[in-house]
Amino acid sequence: MKKEDRLKSKEQLLAELEAEDFSRITLSFYKYVAISNPQKMREKLHEKFFALGCKGRIYIAQEGINAQMNVPEHNWEAFDQFIKSIPEFNDIPYKIAVEEDSKSFIKLIVRVKDKIVADGLNDSSFDPSNTGEYLTAAEINDYVTNPEAIVVDMRNAYESEVGHFEGAVTPNVDTFREELAVITDELSDKKDAPIALYCTGGIRCEKASAWMKHNGFENVKHLKGGIIDYAHQVKEQKLENKFKGKNFVFDERMGERISDEIIATCHVCTKHKADTHYHCKNQACHILFIGCEECIEQKGGYCSYKCKGFDKLPAKFKKWTTRNDYKKNLTHYKKKRMTISS
Ligand SMILES: [Zn+2]
Ligand SMILES: [Zn+2]
Repeated sequence: MKKEDRLKSKEQLLAELEAEDFSRITLSFYKYVAISNPQKMREKLHEKFFALGCKGRIYIAQEGINAQMNVPEHNWEAFDQFIKSIPEFNDIPYKIAVEEDSKSFIKLIVRVKDKIVADGLNDSSFDPSNTGEYLTAAEINDYVTNPEAIVVDMRNAYESEVGHFEGAVTPNVDTFREELAVITDELSDKKDAPIALYCTGGIRCEKASAWMKHNGFENVKHLKGGIIDYAHQVKEQKLENKFKGKNFVFDERMGERISDEIIATCHVCTKHKADTHYHCKNQACHILFIGCEECIEQKGGYCSYKCKGFDKLPAKFKKWTTRNDYKKNLTHYKKKRMTISS
């Protein structure tokens, strides 16, 4: 029997991926659908995906499924047939990644969750299936150019920082639950205005549009399939691309380029244009930051010389210091991301 991914080290998993002589198809899909026994579904999916050599992160909840994963190309047919054989999922549309990268995920995680998208909502009168209407790529382009319309980025600040629609509202938030609160509050006097929501793959907007309708917004629609599908439609239909920069994605790549413009600035030097995300190599810090080539080279992938120096200390000392005062002294430690002002 093959050893499960979770029992292997990261180095081992990476080495295995490196040695592969086939390519992988990276995709995502989700559906809000009632799943009566999430645990049973989890076992079923894990068994099959593991046998097919799939990697990725799949969440199952009573409200549905949310998957970001890849499939070895030679097993695509088997994968597709398996998904279609499950009544709850037989009409799920896949979103295939624009850029191909076999290392998009290094292991397989299938997990039962409370919700497929954490929303912090606790309102029993709210019906998440009462969603707003969909927008195509051509339609959201019209919203972007219409001065009456409001285009809202439903993602977190670190995502919209590297890429967003021209003129979009990009709230400075770290979580989806904050975002839901901020938009209903900030747009409270715009309840009749045409509003277009968008996110990475569409899953957050399904819920957000339903939530805004629940809060009295009359004219709220959302981009079907999110930025991922927008990029496909723009290419296929030769539309003008109104999305500037990169689409942040939650895998090892941390971003898919949609347009050539670099709209963000390096967090380390705060001078050079940059839009590549890194996690500080110092595990005690691990902050998410944008780095330019020069800063990454100079500091060796650390967010600062302080972190670089710290990482060179003997392991025993590092462990002790981390526990005792390092985290307290590092001003940005409590934040999950770096910003230009921090
Ligand atoms: Zn820099
Ligand atoms: Zn650091």
